[in-house]
Amino acid sequence: MEWIFEISNFLIGTCLASHACVIVERAGKEDFIFSRSKCTNCNQQLCLLDEIPLISYLVLKGRCRYCKVHIPCEYFFTEFLGGFAFSKINFSNIHGVYTAIVLFSLLLTAISDYQVQEFDIILVLPALVISVLHIMNNLNSISIIGFIQFFPIFLLLLFEIIRKKCGSGDLIVYLILSFYFSSKLANLTFLIASITLLIIFFSNKMSEKQPIAFIPFIYIGLIIQLLCK
Ligand SMILES: [Zn+2]
Repeated sequence: MEWIFEISNFLIGTCLASHACVIVERAGKEDFIFSRSKCTNCNQQLCLLDEIPLISYLVLKGRCRYCKVHIPCEYFFTEFLGGFAFSKINFSNIHGVYTAIVLFSLLLTAISDYQVQEFDIILVLPALVISVLHIMNNLNSISIIGFIQFFPIFLLLLFEIIRKKCGSGDLIVYLILSFYFSSKLANLTFLIASITLLIIFFSNKMSEKQPIAFIPFIYIGLIIQLLCK
């Protein structure tokens, strides 16, 4: 019966991810919680049928129903990713709810990083607060091995920030993953993210000068970890 919960969680995740895109796009501009979604090209208010995650995109073949403008496939991919992110969460206990908030906050950060190569601290703040509270409640369970897994990568990221080779956002996300999940999970997540980035870098021949958003790759790495657990 577990698969029923996983499928319903997947659907919840796609809706949350779809709304996350709207939040990042409209943050600070207008009421994004209660107003209906609009097409960013023709400003036409979308009907409920146009807002069904994944399905609307497929039915409308990735175009706006009204002006037929092409909707970036990243939206579809984000909804898919959101579905997988939330599929294993047990919403019946408080820990599952905290995990959901951490994952949603990181998703907002990843979308913003992808779109504008930066993010407002407010997006990542819920995840940061929850992870700091989590580590403070579990101080006595920190092992030497955990610390050894954490410290070198922490120093490396700090060093890269000073050399301006990576942004402080990557370090914040590393701290969140280490504090909330574990240093081992954080390290493996960064490893998967780096490998994925390298593959895309070489297959796309991205220019070296262009800044690359790393947090979306971290998010993909995290989802793979959570699914394999
Ligand atoms: Zn339109």
